[in-house]
Amino acid sequence: MKAALLTAPGKFETRQLPDPQIKNDTDVVIRVKTIGVCGSDIHYFTTGRIGSQVVKYPFIVGHEAAGIVEKTGSGVTRVKPGQRIAIEPAVTCGECDQCKAGRENTCRNLRFLGAPGQLDGAQCEYIVMPQENCFPIVDSMTFEQAALCEPLAIAAYAVERSPLAAGKSVAILGVGPVGMSVFLVLRTKEIGEIYVTDKLDGRLAAANKLKPKWSGNPKRVDIVKEISSNEPLQMDVVFECSGDPAAISQGVQLLKPGGTLVIVGIPEVDDVPLLIHELRRKEITIVNVRRQNHCTQKAIDLVASGEINVDSLVTHRFPLEETAKAFDLVANYREGVMKAMIHID
Ligand SMILES: [Zn+2]
Ligand SMILES: [Zn+2]
Repeated sequence: MKAALLTAPGKFETRQLPDPQIKNDTDVVIRVKTIGVCGSDIHYFTTGRIGSQVVKYPFIVGHEAAGIVEKTGSGVTRVKPGQRIAIEPAVTCGECDQCKAGRENTCRNLRFLGAPGQLDGAQCEYIVMPQENCFPIVDSMTFEQAALCEPLAIAAYAVERSPLAAGKSVAILGVGPVGMSVFLVLRTKEIGEIYVTDKLDGRLAAANKLKPKWSGNPKRVDIVKEISSNEPLQMDVVFECSGDPAAISQGVQLLKPGGTLVIVGIPEVDDVPLLIHELRRKEITIVNVRRQNHCTQKAIDLVASGEINVDSLVTHRFPLEETAKAFDLVANYREGVMKAMIHID
């Protein structure tokens, strides 16, 4: 099969590799059709690591994928060859304390598609996944939409983890693909005003189509001052979706006493400073979001029902052979890129 291999920081090569094989009778061979380029993949591309997860080259990245079932193991009942599916990238053990407690996203033996030292990724023609990771989609759903259900599931989970209710005011710091996905999920809920920030004007323009109460660029305005003057009692919930340590501080400053900071973004650094006295005095709750848990089907349903339209997130499309171009574009935020998708014919 053809695969786009990350061979060094900033470098991809398209090579022929042996097709992956079924090992367990509940395995499914999937012909990959579409993969989304994710900010987390970009960390592997630019710095070769996220925290302690370090890439050993060559490596296949990619975890936001959709495709067609090619072949099934003898024990597979969930899907059939020819079926179109969305893919849940986290393979869990089902046996550890975390899995038994329903926290599969923090499974002690978790193996994630396209995570170094765990599983090879999806930027190739075929992958093998357990049947539990295969989610059938309706005919009307495109492969792009199905692949975008992966980040959308993270957004749905982040919103689920927040104490949102009618009338609550919310800020989203960073409206890249994940921040926008959070915004899309919030638009399906009855809540109060939504404020958004981003350092890229193009992203603010995209977010403005969802009609936030206010949007602003922290490079030009004091977003804490501006949002707080619009909403003197300040925010109930802040979703930090940028990974920028400065935004974590802004989030703390934007919250009202008793508010909740939901951290979704992945910082490029290992340590971030916390405004501990403000956190303490205002009794702020920090909620961390580790990918998603039990939200894949929910995300698929939101898209299939038409409640959420993810199509506008896609700004660029590339064939597998141009993976390096796609990653370079996303890593450097060129051409107003929001989401770049890779298609395999
Ligand atoms: Zn992702
Ligand atoms: Zn487990």
